[in-house]
Amino acid sequence: CGIVGCILKENNRNVAPILFDCISKLEYRGYDSIGLATYDGNIHIKKDKGKIDEVNRKLDLPDMPGSFGIAHVRWATHGDPSKLNAHPQMDEENTIAVVHNGIIENNTKLKADLIAEGHTFKSDTDTEVIPHLIQKFMDEGRDLEHAVRKTIEILEGAYAIAAISSREPDKIVATRKDSPLIVGLGGDGYYLASDSPAILKYAKDIIYPEKGEIVILDRTGVVVHDEFDNPINKEVDTINWTP
Ligand code: GLU
Repeated sequence: CGIVGCILKENNRNVAPILFDCISKLEYRGYDSIGLATYDGNIHIKKDKGKIDEVNRKLDLPDMPGSFGIAHVRWATHGDPSKLNAHPQMDEENTIAVVHNGIIENNTKLKADLIAEGHTFKSDTDTEVIPHLIQKFMDEGRDLEHAVRKTIEILEGAYAIAAISSREPDKIVATRKDSPLIVGLGGDGYYLASDSPAILKYAKDIIYPEKGEIVILDRTGVVVHDEFDNPINKEVDTINWTP
């Protein structure tokens, strides 16, 4: 029901306290589970079902290493609220972590096809097909951005997605169709979120990605590619209030 992502310009600062602060601001969107993924040589995951405070008391969510990552509050549509079904969801080799807001309508067919190709699934979510498809398309030689692009060619439904990969670190790739997603340019890093209250404390210059556009956030900035893979200049909207 809500996603955020952040990559800090400085690679020696920990992003988890910021991700936790941002994702906590999306509590109003409703949720049953919370999870974070960060990267510092490996992908680290902390997630569980329950209220943000409850899960935080158990797992200490801001205490994770790494200077970029993604976070999620879930409103379950496919699969009960549980630790396994909480996001981030991963590929089989734990090299790709994905948060997703929305519903993948053709997930049953996609999952059956992937199982026929030898994939094993750990959750009951519709979302898990996304990291598995990205894995498949990266195994075929694509980079993360183009594996995401190939994946959304076959997804049906509504989504805002953010992905990180240990195979291609130091970037976050995000895209959307029929679910909200904004991107923030901050002084200390680059942000994405389902809604502006999550990130306005950190970034006031906002970009609004459209359906099918792919956003790549790295330590040097944000690049947006249109559905034909051409770089585009997005208008930057400066928001002058603090939540
Ligand atoms: N359909 C996904 C799930 O049930 C994402 C739900 C959401 O937007 O939180 O896991």
